[in-house]
Amino acid sequence: MTKIIHNLESINEKINEAKKRAQVTQDVKIIAVTKQVSIERTSEAIEAGLIHLGENRPEGLLTKKGEFNNQAKWHYIGSLQTRKVKQVINEIDYLHSLDRLSLAEEINKRAINPVNCFIQANVSGEESKHGLSTEEVIPFIKSLQQYDKIRIIGLMTMAPNTDDETVIRKVFRDLKNLQQEVVKLSLPFAPCEELSMGMSNDFEIAVEEGATFVRIGTALVG
Ligand SMILES: *Cc1c(COP(=O)(O)O)cnc(C)c1O
Repeated sequence: MTKIIHNLESINEKINEAKKRAQVTQDVKIIAVTKQVSIERTSEAIEAGLIHLGENRPEGLLTKKGEFNNQAKWHYIGSLQTRKVKQVINEIDYLHSLDRLSLAEEINKRAINPVNCFIQANVSGEESKHGLSTEEVIPFIKSLQQYDKIRIIGLMTMAPNTDDETVIRKVFRDLKNLQQEVVKLSLPFAPCEELSMGMSNDFEIAVEEGATFVRIGTALVG
């Protein structure tokens, strides 16, 4: 067994236990965050059966995509500079960091096909974090109607870096509540069925609170 296979088994077990504990039944997809690892390590991840890969820089994304192309689904999980949109937007399957109108505008201009986007929300309100405040999310989504290349498939957040489980849980729960508010709007361009939340240190809490995509780097491929 390679180490990644071993890590993956353990993570899958923890996800299943978390679902049982919380009595939730959503399908949880694992995004292997390969931003800090080599081509070789990424190849191991694919061999282990991981199909969702996450990168947070155009260079990393393009290098790995060049190597593995259609063997994976490509997730762009970092903040994306408007001037770099054209380099990556037609290379990815999901964007996790839509957080401003200027970015939406540029995506709409450059994308050949509609792009699956998550709105990044800064639920915790930490200054260091990217994303819209909770109050800004719904007005922002409504303003995206005019862009036919943007499809809002869900919300994404990062929990604060703390050991306080109560604080982390509240962030994930707030994101889920917000997602359900968006669903209720029944906007055709914003089905918003997905929740991208949970990383190496907090994915079990995220799953308990309804995550459908967890983004795991260190604990999986690190
Ligand atoms: C790096 C990164 C991750 C993975 O973090 P780990 O703690 O290594 O699991 C998840 N999401 C985003 C947005 C990241 O930048």
